[in-house]
Amino acid sequence: MQSPLITAYYVSAGLFAIQAFFVAMLVRPSLHATQTHYVRVMWSQAGINLLFCALQLCTAWQYSSTDLVSALLAHKWMNTFYVVIPLLGVLTIDKVVRSPESSHYSIFFRVLAAWTMVLLAYNWLSPYGYRFDSIDASARVLMPWDESLLLLRGAPSVVIDLAWLSGVFAILYVLRMVSMVHHTGDKPTTVYLLATVTLVLLTTGIDRAIDAGLLDFPYLDGFAVVLLSFVWFALLGRDIRKSYQYYASTKDKLYREIEQIKSSDLVTHLPNRAGTLQLLRPLLDQHRENGTGLAVFLLDIDRMDVLRGTYGHEAADTLLSLVATRLTEQVRDSDWVARGAGTTFVVVATGMKRGASLQQLHSQAALQLHEKINSVFALPFTLDGHEIRLSSYTGVALYPDNGTTADSLLACAELALHEAKNQSSTALQAFYPELRKQLRSQLEMESELQLAVQREQFELHYQPQVCAVTGRIQCMEALIRWRHASWGWVSPAQFIPLAENLGLIHPIGHWVFHTACQQLVAWRKQGHHDLRMAVNLSAYQLDAPELVGNIEKLLADYGLPSNALELEVTESVLLKNPQRAIERLQRLRQLGVRLMLDDFGTGYSSLSYLRVLPVHGFKLDRSFIQSISDNKKDMAICSTAIDLAKVLELEIVAEGVEQFRQAELLLEKGCSKFQGYWFSPPLNADSAGQCLRSVAAHSFAPTGSLAAVECGSPPLQPQAA
Ligand code: C2E
Ligand code: CA
Ligand code: CA
Repeated sequence: MQSPLITAYYVSAGLFAIQAFFVAMLVRPSLHATQTHYVRVMWSQAGINLLFCALQLCTAWQYSSTDLVSALLAHKWMNTFYVVIPLLGVLTIDKVVRSPESSHYSIFFRVLAAWTMVLLAYNWLSPYGYRFDSIDASARVLMPWDESLLLLRGAPSVVIDLAWLSGVFAILYVLRMVSMVHHTGDKPTTVYLLATVTLVLLTTGIDRAIDAGLLDFPYLDGFAVVLLSFVWFALLGRDIRKSYQYYASTKDKLYREIEQIKSSDLVTHLPNRAGTLQLLRPLLDQHRENGTGLAVFLLDIDRMDVLRGTYGHEAADTLLSLVATRLTEQVRDSDWVARGAGTTFVVVATGMKRGASLQQLHSQAALQLHEKINSVFALPFTLDGHEIRLSSYTGVALYPDNGTTADSLLACAELALHEAKNQSSTALQAFYPELRKQLRSQLEMESELQLAVQREQFELHYQPQVCAVTGRIQCMEALIRWRHASWGWVSPAQFIPLAENLGLIHPIGHWVFHTACQQLVAWRKQGHHDLRMAVNLSAYQLDAPELVGNIEKLLADYGLPSNALELEVTESVLLKNPQRAIERLQRLRQLGVRLMLDDFGTGYSSLSYLRVLPVHGFKLDRSFIQSISDNKKDMAICSTAIDLAKVLELEIVAEGVEQFRQAELLLEKGCSKFQGYWFSPPLNADSAGQCLRSVAAHSFAPTGSLAAVECGSPPLQPQAA
């Protein structure tokens, strides 16, 4: 090779350029978008590398020049890069290391910038650049390896020493930056770094000796900087890899944490609903593969709202976590407990036998688990020194019988739980397919019922209550009918409980009262002066504080005597607030309204209710009447009830009399008031009016066959009449 040193300059320039390119490539990934620190350091390194590349090229240009003019031009460019590079280094420190956020430049940078401007101006204005005052014309130097270079020599200028001083300061400043940015405790890298820095300092020292005219040698610091730059580049690359790994691992960890929070309940630390679904899905896959069954229990703690209201949220949460602990202790390791919505818990029993013939075994295992769940609530919980007893409702859905997906199983368990609550039964309620249909049609009916009042789909039918002694109709019972546009007639037994739950019973009841009173006024005007109207009153209606006032106004508005209205209540009015119910009934009685206890004998402890409730009489439920002709026990019950009425001086009405024989037997025992299909089914207003007219003319007496026929029933011929 003819000129190895010049080649080395070109090679080093190429290395600087390549590195600048790589650094620029490294900055690009969006990974560093938030790490402005690295981005800036790297861009400035790329910039410095390019400047060094230019410096090396200019050095090669000068040393290989054939004439002094070209060598001087190259020299001036070299000088330019020499003074700009430290300035860029200091700028990097200022912007990146020292105060990344600050928009101010350090004093040092400002002074250096000003000084650099002076040097640049001086460099380009003076004939020989800022280093020399004069140039020795015979500048060629032969290197020991026979390479001839055009090294400029001459009288050093006055500014060169100052330039050197500022250069030294800049280098120290930059070195400080390197030590600040780079905190690796890793020994080899520290050694490399120190070695290259030493090399840079050494070559810079040599440069100084050359400038001072002590040495006849080319500038070598560019080579040392190539090395330094490579080490620096390697360090940065490693830091970036590390930070990427850290970023990736923290992202992973964070993601896991978020998932954990999302899927676990903060109170009980059990999986929440989302977590339950997440856990249930792979579990179902596993059971599908194994051909085993699984049971999803959903249990709701009763009266938790009351406890929350009484003891506060924190205490209620403590209770829930106590329940969670007990539940977790009870189940097998292979089963698991999770938190459902609100106050519910999910318990999953895994690995059960399955198959149609094994259905029973399957549910036996379920029963065993239910026993375990119940045992959780057998002992009281202690909260702030109070003993609290809890109970729960439980619904269960089985895989694969009731559903094959996590969502569908949970939905089935929810419906079963709903049914358990509906039945107020703490026994285990299993899901069955009809349940869904039932509840769906109930939902449908609920929304239709909301509109029924506005759409005027209700109608009142009237069923006569007959006195067998006089053969007259004493009272008409108003019975509501709902004529739905597509379903036809809907039984009140179906929709009244719904209306009660939805609070619709109040507008419906209001309509019934008005319609019944209007009809009664009309009939009374037609000559049925003593006719009464019986209206059914649900417990929810009695609950309304405005009831008594409303009825008083109603009677006044229609000009009816208060005893023309009879209210039929069932013993269910005593369920919620017996004291208030009795008080309300007493006020109604004081008003003069007649009160009857409906469906007598169907609930519990009806006898004591007769004593407690201020009623004028009771209606013996049709279930006793049904089989009095062939069931001695029922007959005995009926005659006892009749005797009881006599003793208590209460009126008694027999409901659901369907056969002549039933009326006959009851009459024998002393009950003379009847209601039932034998006399007349409930009739619409017109038919009921006709019935009233014909009975008034002929009565239900033995000879009154015509009247009975017109009312839709065969005539009654009571023997004792
Ligand atoms: P309830 O008060 O016991 O009404 C008597 C029920 O027995 C009526 O059923 C009536 O049609 C039926 N019935 C009458 N005679 C016979 C008979 O000989 N044999 C048989 N098997 N049944 C007979 P309905 O009309 O379906 O009413 C059912 C229940 O709905 C009523 O029972 C009552 O509790 C309630 N209800 C009806 N109308 C109203 C109302 O306007 N308001 C309220 N709150 N409840 C009402
Ligand atoms: Ca009734
Ligand atoms: Ca009844």
